[in-house]
Amino acid sequence: MTLSVVTQPELKLWLLFRGHELLVSVESSAFPLYPHYDALGFVSDEQHVVGEHEGRQVSVVRLTEDAVEPEGYHFQSLRSLLLSIDADSFSLAATASQVLEWANSHRFCCRCGTPTQPHPRGERARVCPACAYHQYPRIHPCVIVAITKDDTILLARAQRFVRPMYSLLAGFVEVGETLEHAVMREVAEESGVQVKNLRYFGSQSWPFPNNLMLAFQAEWASGEIVIQEEEIMDAQFFRFDALPEIPPSGSIASQVIHATVTELAASYR
Ligand SMILES: [Zn+2]
Repeated sequence: MTLSVVTQPELKLWLLFRGHELLVSVESSAFPLYPHYDALGFVSDEQHVVGEHEGRQVSVVRLTEDAVEPEGYHFQSLRSLLLSIDADSFSLAATASQVLEWANSHRFCCRCGTPTQPHPRGERARVCPACAYHQYPRIHPCVIVAITKDDTILLARAQRFVRPMYSLLAGFVEVGETLEHAVMREVAEESGVQVKNLRYFGSQSWPFPNNLMLAFQAEWASGEIVIQEEEIMDAQFFRFDALPEIPPSGSIASQVIHATVTELAASYR
C-alpha cells in the first residue's frame, strides 16, 4: 500500500508509543493524536506514516524506553484504550502499533541476514539490498465463534484469563485451512462439540500483536462438552439472560456475543 503524502507539515498528526504503550492526554483520552510531538520535548529517529484522520496525515513515532511523560499526559496500554476510544481511532492506533512491531522485527533479511532498507518507492516493505527479498507486514488470521444451542450460548474460560471472564472459543487458522475448517477444528479440539450452519459475522484488526479476528456464529450440532484442559478451564452453555463476566466492549468477541444474545432474547423471551 502506498499512502498519500501531505505536503504541509503543520497538518501532520502523531501517535507516540513507548514500548506497547501510547501517550494519552490525561484530560481527553478520547483521541490520542498530537500536532507536534517535538513540542512535547521528545525526539525520535523512527517514524512511519500509518493513515489519516479528517484529511490529516497520521504518523507513528517510537519513543525511547526512558521517555518520561510530560505533565498532563500518561502512557496507557492499547488494550485499555479499547474501552475509551471509538472504533476508527482504535483501528488507527492498532495499525500504528503493528507497523512499529513489524519494523522492529524485520531489521534483517529473513532469507540471508543482511540489514534491510526502506522500500525505494515508499511501499510498506523492508527490502534486502543483497538478495532483493521484500518483507511486508504479516497478519495472522484467527477465528472466533459464538455457538448457540436452544436458548444458550457456549462460553469458555481460558486458562490464560486472569479474571473469572468467559469468552468465545477461538484459535489461529493453520496453513492450508479454510476459515470454515478452522472453526470446526478449533471448536472440536477445545470443547468436543460439532457445529453447523456457520455464518460470517464480521472482523477486527487485533494488534496483540498482529492478528485479524474473523468472527462467526454457528449452531450446536452434536456432542457433549469435553474441554481441552491445557487451554480451557471451563466451558458451559449459558442461558442468554444469565451470562457470566464477558470481554469488554470494543472487542469483536463482545460484539458477536451481544448480537447473538440479542437474537436469542428475541426468540425465547
Ligand atoms: Zn536477503
